[in-house]
Amino acid sequence: CGIFGYCNFLVEKDRKAICNILTTGLQRLEYRGYDSAGIGIDGDKPGEVLLFKQVGKVAGLIKLITESNVDKSVSFYSQVSIAHTRWATHGVPSPVNCHPLRSDPKNEFTVVHNGIVTNSAELRLVLQKRGYKFESETDTEAVAVLTKFIYDSQPDKRITFVALVKAVLHELEGSFAFVFKSTHYPNEIVTTRRGSPLMIGVKTEKKLKVDFVDVDFAPTEETEPYSGSNGLLAPSAPKLTRSQSRAFMSEDGLPQPIEYFIASDASAIIEHTKRVLYLEDDDIANIKEGELYISRLRRDGGKDVPRTRSIET
Ligand code: GLU
Repeated sequence: CGIFGYCNFLVEKDRKAICNILTTGLQRLEYRGYDSAGIGIDGDKPGEVLLFKQVGKVAGLIKLITESNVDKSVSFYSQVSIAHTRWATHGVPSPVNCHPLRSDPKNEFTVVHNGIVTNSAELRLVLQKRGYKFESETDTEAVAVLTKFIYDSQPDKRITFVALVKAVLHELEGSFAFVFKSTHYPNEIVTTRRGSPLMIGVKTEKKLKVDFVDVDFAPTEETEPYSGSNGLLAPSAPKLTRSQSRAFMSEDGLPQPIEYFIASDASAIIEHTKRVLYLEDDDIANIKEGELYISRLRRDGGKDVPRTRSIET
């Protein structure tokens, strides 16, 4: 099973090219095993998310996309897209169980997942009791619905996408890599992993500088230093302290044309770029308006901080 994501910013791509990048990425990951495939892309209207899913080989998905005529030539300068080949663990291979899974019929939150969420049955029950509906048998859908539940519970809806995903992660057990997309956060993707592989390829003509910034949530409590340089940092880069996260920005501070390729495996990225960042466990990466921010959930001495149950049955 494999995850693929693609974001372009100030780089013109028509939808055909975007779909092509996604399905080619999926084909590179097919060797990992698959029984179905799917993509989530931006629609024509602002905030609209379209899903295409097909049981079987990626070739079948390509046929579905072509026949839908959605890949007609409309150009975009900024889109965020997600894609997945599935190896079913929870629920048979079927169109509804294909990824991306969604939180609701309006596709408010869509997610692709590699791995297993071991407490999904418990989460599903809690959410069903609160009136949330499920359409698939997957563990992944519980994550999508949980994301919507937490979002819906925010009185002013001003929570950042990263803080939202962080709140979701605190409720999950198991191993996973995720990419989240949302109608509420256009031009933005949040991706994270625990136990399953995940990496981000960065393609840009300009030089990147690495800034150490505070993002979103109380950084002194929530983040920890990074061990690896991951290829994009200069060897002499200062060590991060607990209060810092990384942001990758253009050296001159101006918006720059840039593309990001998120994948379970470098084999899906190397044809696009050789600059690859490997995410480590509990890293949360946020691609937003062409910039990349990476933070990490706090862990205690390498062990998971006990997950507190903020949802009561
Ligand atoms: N557990 C998820 C499912 O069964 C993801 C499986 C995968 O890694 O492809 O849908």
